[in-house]
Amino acid sequence: MAEIIIDSYRCSGCGTCVEICPEVFHMNSMTEKAELIAAAPLVTDAVWQAAAFCPEKCIEMRE
Ligand code: SF4
Repeated sequence: MAEIIIDSYRCSGCGTCVEICPEVFHMNSMTEKAELIAAAPLVTDAVWQAAAFCPEKCIEMRE
């Protein structure tokens, strides 16, 4: 199963991933960075789409 990694250093907090896939991503209101809701979510098409549309390209999938 693939693992989803968000590079919070590069995340600009734009919220695109949350808009595309709110089942998996949410914004941390303290840090204003995206985070995973669950530790090991399923990598759905929406997750791939969120990664593709992330303007900072900071969502990575690792096998
Ligand atoms: S789309 Fe990318 S830059 Fe924007 S909030 Fe999500 S992880 Fe951060």
